[in-house]
Amino acid sequence: MRRMLIAGNWKMNLTANEARAVIAALRAEIDRDAAALARDRDVMIAPPAVIIPAASQALAGSSIALGAQNMHFEDKGAFTGEVSAPMLKGFGVTHVIVGHSERRHVFGETDELINRKVIAALRHGMVPILCVGETQEEHDGGRTAEVVLAQLQNGLAGVDQAQGDRIVVAYEPVWAIGTGRTATPELAENVHGAIRESLRAQMGPEKADSVRILYGGSVTADNVDSLVSKPNIDGALVGGASLKADSFARIVRAKAR
Ligand code: PEP
Repeated sequence: MRRMLIAGNWKMNLTANEARAVIAALRAEIDRDAAALARDRDVMIAPPAVIIPAASQALAGSSIALGAQNMHFEDKGAFTGEVSAPMLKGFGVTHVIVGHSERRHVFGETDELINRKVIAALRHGMVPILCVGETQEEHDGGRTAEVVLAQLQNGLAGVDQAQGDRIVVAYEPVWAIGTGRTATPELAENVHGAIRESLRAQMGPEKADSVRILYGGSVTADNVDSLVSKPNIDGALVGGASLKADSFARIVRAKAR
């Protein structure tokens, strides 16, 4: 039985003071149910890199895990503006979002670069959350499976099979991110099923069946239950609705599967 993961991606939002306030409110909502929630789900938030020290302090003693939105694949060096896995781990960061569609489409990240980041995260014992997803044009052209499975296979190239189950995959159709247009649970489950099949071929059924596949794209408290009721939807990657403690807490309390 896979544990659910509800992960918040704050993107470039919230100052340190605002982040402390959101975390305090979130802890007030979540920590009191921590034991019940911990039975079948994990919760994570990913603030901007510069906010991670403040978030780390504010999360001390909480069951909420700390994630990063991006990182470089090298440990150190002449890479102006970048942060590395050891730097993030120093603040208790355990998860890192890799290959988010904004990194791919706004900052030009390639499958090859994303793959190096996945491998670096695993080398440092972090959980990479590998994002895949098709654009509106690719969706309309009937190319969803082709695009998503290519991103998946390229993103995981050369990953040690033994570490396969440490990876999290997030299916995030680009046309659903920040648009209010959520994929239907049926459509998402269809793609998640194809991702699961591809993982089985890549790392064997046992490992593949323990990989968590999240859905992302306009997830709210109103649609999360129907999404996670599907057999291959193991949680959510949440953008906009993770910025407010009450809306994120309601998503975290999604109906048990
Ligand atoms: C995201 O940023 O990964 C995301 C899914 O955003 P939103 O929930 O706002 O669509």
